[in-house]
Order: sequence, then C-alpha cells, then structure tokens
Amino acid sequence: SKRIAVLTSGGDAPGMNACIRAIVVACEGAGHTIIGFEHGYNGLLEQNWRKLDSKKVHNIIQRGGTILRSARCKTFKQDASGQLAANNLDELAIDALIVIGGDGSFRGAVHLGKFWGGQVIGLPGTIDNDIYGCDATIGYYTAIDTAVSSIDKVRDTADAFERIFLVEVMGRHAGFLGASAALAGAANYVILPELFTDPESVLNEIQQQVAIHRQRYGHESYIIVLTENLWPSGINALAEALETRTDGEVRPVILGHVQRGGSPVSQDRILATTLGVQAVRSIEQGKNGIMVATAQGDVVEVALEETWQHKKTLGNTLTHCMLTMLNERHHWP
Ligand code: ADP
Repeated sequence: SKRIAVLTSGGDAPGMNACIRAIVVACEGAGHTIIGFEHGYNGLLEQNWRKLDSKKVHNIIQRGGTILRSARCKTFKQDASGQLAANNLDELAIDALIVIGGDGSFRGAVHLGKFWGGQVIGLPGTIDNDIYGCDATIGYYTAIDTAVSSIDKVRDTADAFERIFLVEVMGRHAGFLGASAALAGAANYVILPELFTDPESVLNEIQQQVAIHRQRYGHESYIIVLTENLWPSGINALAEALETRTDGEVRPVILGHVQRGGSPVSQDRILATTLGVQAVRSIEQGKNGIMVATAQGDVVEVALEETWQHKKTLGNTLTHCMLTMLNERHHWP
C-alpha cells in the first residue's frame, strides 16, 4: 500500500470535491493512506495537511468549491520552494501527490518533480477547459450550465425591452466556455479568441447582422456572448461602440465568479469520479509526471509538459456549428 496526498490548486471548479471524494474512497478501498494538503501549494510549504477518510468526504459530492481550499502560491515557482515541498513530502513519507488544477498548477507539479523523487499526477480541474490532451476538464460542464441559465434570463429581459445584451463569460484565453454557452443559450453572435480577427471587423460584422436581424425579427432581443480578456478596451467600451453602430441600447453583463460556483452537474461529478479513481490506479502502476484525463471516451495519460506545450483547439465540428448557428448566419439566402 502507498501513502498518497492530494491538493487542489489555482482557480477552483465545481466537481473538485467529487474528485477528492473519489480519490479518498478508491484509496481506502485499496488500503492506501490518503492525506489532503490545504490551500494548494501553500499547504505543501507550510505542512498544512489533514488525514482524509471516507467519513470526511461524506455528503460533499454535490458541493461546489473545494473542502481542501484552493489558492495561488506565488513563491512556488522558486527552487527553494520546490526543495522545501519535496522535503516536507519526504518527511511525511508520501509516495505520490495528486494535483487537481489548471495548467498553472501542472507547471507547479512539474517544478516539484525536479526536486522530489515521488510520483506526481495531475487531474484537469478548471471551468475553462483550456487544457490540451483531454476532452473536458472538471467544472467545465457546470460552468456552461451556469452561463446558459444566465443567458436565458438575460433574454427574457432583453425581449421585454428590445435591447442588445452583451454577456461576458470566463474562459481565460480560450473560447470553449463562450462557444458552448453561446450555442446552448441560442445567442446571436459570439466573440471568441479562436475566431477573433480585429475589433473593426467584428464591429462591422455585428452592425450588419443586427441590421438584418431587425429587418427579419423586428426589435426582438439580440444577444452577444463575449469571452473575457479579449476585447482590447474592455466590455464597456465595446458596448458603447455597439450603441453607436446600432443606434440602440446595449447592456453589458459580466457573469464573473458565479460561473465558478454552484453544485456540479452530473457530467462533472462523473468525470471527477472517473479521474479520481484512475489517478489512484495510475499511481499503483508506478506512473509519474502525467495528467490523467479522458479523451474520446477513453482514459488517457498525457505527459504534464505536453498539456501546456500544445494549444487545445475548438475543433472543426464545434467551429462549423458556431459559424452556422451564430456568426455567419447573414450568409443564408
Ligand atoms: P491554474 O492551475 O488554475 O492554471 P494558476 O495559473 O494560478 O492556476 O496556477 C496555480 C499555482 O500553480 C500558482 O499559484 C503557483 O503556485 C503554481 N505555478 C504556476 N506556474 C508555475 C511555475 N511555472 N512553476 C511553479 N509553480 C507554478
């Protein structure tokens, strides 16, 4: 049997608790010891940890956030921190560490691996789904649902007042959340990093489309989904520019951190549980320096470095669907 540790790091995501639970249950069943470090890599540096067992993870599968807390840890990039963390893990005689987080957390895991002889396993946990090598990350499905229910509500009020609404969703530098939320929310236009050319072209295209939309549907609502960190001068400047272009009211709505919260949907719970179980299995097989994830229905192991060396693309199917249903509808006869 092994001594295994787990931590959650970086931006939190719904389903992290479900993942912790699965790891604990799988470890207990196989006779491994399992401990949890608190506050991401900070807990590793400060020896802030607690023993976990299945009683302690009872009734958490449905909870958002993470019982181990998450955090950024700026100093972890330093060699001294990597060394300190390695010493602390050795002191506790830990054989393997599971890191649930995004690509920043994976970089941290690889950094630790330079100083520590134990096994390091990453599990993708972020609402942005921006990690190469996996189909979905823990938290992504819930964040889509949260954004979509907000868009549904925005449409009700937008219809009542015949306005244009601009809804900003998260995604960091990737358009997965924006694309999915825009499609599932039946938005009219989406502005994503992957489709972005330059501000002027986007403004021109929206201006044209809104004109066509008004001819066809009268002054019914028009909803634009925007990915965060993309519009050069910010969402308010974009709203103002669009007011001038469309001669109408444009209301910006920033969904913000509500997208990180909430009870995980079943898809995230199932993904989190699958990955937690598989992480323990990979540790038993002696694996090290890998992300455990699912791709095309199968469990895959991807070298941690690869997860940030390659850029995950939206894919042809999703892109084609978006262009057909959203941004290029004006090409229809
Ligand atoms: P996410 O995991 O969601 O991408 P961050 O990018 O904030 O979140 O990264 C989480 C933490 O991972 C950072 O606060 C830091 O402790 C650690 N980390 C990120 N990049 C590195 C790096 N290059 N070397 C060591 N640790 C890193």
